[in-house]
Amino acid sequence: KSDEMEEEIREALKEANAEEKIDVVRVGCFGLCEAGPIAVVYPGGKFYAYLKEGDGRRIVKEDLLGDKTIDELIYPESLSDDIVKSIYDVSFYTKQKKIAHKNCGVINPDSIEEYIALDGYLGLHKALNEMSPQEVIDEIKESGLRGRGGGGFPTGLKWQFTKDAEGSPKYVLCNADEGDPGAFMDRSILEGDPYSVIEAMTIAGYAINANYGFIYIRAEYPSAVEKLESSIKKAKELGLLGNNIMGTDFSFDLELRLGAGAFVCGEEMALIESIEGKRGIPRNKPPFPANEGLWGKPTLINNVETYANIAQIIYKGSDWFSSIGTEKSHGTKVFTLGGNIKRTGIIEVPMGTTLRDIIYEIGGGIIGDKEFKAVQTGGPSGGCITKDYLDTPIDYDNLTALGSMMGSGGMIVMDDSTCMVDIARFFLEFTVDESCGKCTPCREGTKRMLEILEKIVAGKGTLEDIDTLENLGNMIKISSLCGLGQSAPNPVLSTLRYFRDEYEAHVVDKK
Ligand code: SF4
Repeated sequence: KSDEMEEEIREALKEANAEEKIDVVRVGCFGLCEAGPIAVVYPGGKFYAYLKEGDGRRIVKEDLLGDKTIDELIYPESLSDDIVKSIYDVSFYTKQKKIAHKNCGVINPDSIEEYIALDGYLGLHKALNEMSPQEVIDEIKESGLRGRGGGGFPTGLKWQFTKDAEGSPKYVLCNADEGDPGAFMDRSILEGDPYSVIEAMTIAGYAINANYGFIYIRAEYPSAVEKLESSIKKAKELGLLGNNIMGTDFSFDLELRLGAGAFVCGEEMALIESIEGKRGIPRNKPPFPANEGLWGKPTLINNVETYANIAQIIYKGSDWFSSIGTEKSHGTKVFTLGGNIKRTGIIEVPMGTTLRDIIYEIGGGIIGDKEFKAVQTGGPSGGCITKDYLDTPIDYDNLTALGSMMGSGGMIVMDDSTCMVDIARFFLEFTVDESCGKCTPCREGTKRMLEILEKIVAGKGTLEDIDTLENLGNMIKISSLCGLGQSAPNPVLSTLRYFRDEYEAHVVDKK
């Protein structure tokens, strides 16, 4: 639809002989997926949402070429105020804070010049010209940045371990194998601001003394792959990748590696195996990648969102970053907001924002003004959080304490008509399909759990089955080899914790 809208606007400009005077620029995601296609007219920043056929011509005729003032948000007249106001208003953006997504929806991702114009490459310039590798790592440590891929491990510490590890060469990897159902925030960064990741990986290379990196990205993201390929090429042409970057004696180069869509390849050891050309299955840890990663060499691996924070931390300083968020979780977190919520899309909020603010202020509340029942965070690895915890500030530790996890940032909101047993079955089906089969607890245990769940859903289960489900889940958590198996029972265990009565309502020997 955005392609058609762009075409319509270009045609209207051509017909009015205005194509030379007014630029039409394709940008990345605005975050408000619910309201696309979206167009913004500058100067002034007038915001058009829900565009449909004919609206592009109207924008050109009445706005770009008309004489109206352009200092407020308006919508094409073809859209009724009721529809627009009920679904979109500025509150979607006002409670957000953009760091990782700061350029998404703002710059043309194909233009390195636009990236540079908005402070791009100032972080790398500062690192190479004013800081030693150790000072770069210290800055990241002091910022308190934690891995945004799910685990929340301190990023600076990971960089330190890799720098200190013996062995050469060292490698910098980016995990862009975003696989959680309903999560697409990393894709949005790669499509909307690819240079932020490329710059950050170059900084990481300088910090840990690596000259080569790989971005492991799902082949199902062809647009992001295309953007990265062309951005890497452009960065090389301008001396921002390759030999003697910015005239210094530091050299760093990057390549893409495409994943074939296995969820387990988002696990760092499986990802490394896959880059090495083997089947993507996790290895035992330790040794950790910092000591023995890609081809047995010290390897730094971070995900897309983590990297998207790096250049700004180096350029603006750790104090700036650590002033945002909570005491133990600094900065912001990107979430994909989906499910029974009015405004779906991608949001970025300071750590410590409450679920209530996310769901009601940013998300606009529950569709049909139904009652909120629960929100699933962390995708298939996470768990459900109920309305009793709507005022909990979101950070790594609070989510874990509630039996869920940050994960990569999927957030699925459910209304009071949702069957929680069905939700647990949905996520478990996903992990059963995606288990690599290497270890027995995950390979066999999750299958048995799914069988029991299906029996319960069919109304043939017993109270004893519920207990078995719980015991099996706890056993799989502690005995599986990798994060996939260790977290696979979470959706079942957390729904059992908060909604056991729903399980009991399904069984034949109800209490
Ligand atoms: Fe494979 Fe599951 Fe074991 Fe991980 S936990 S190694 S995905 S079988």
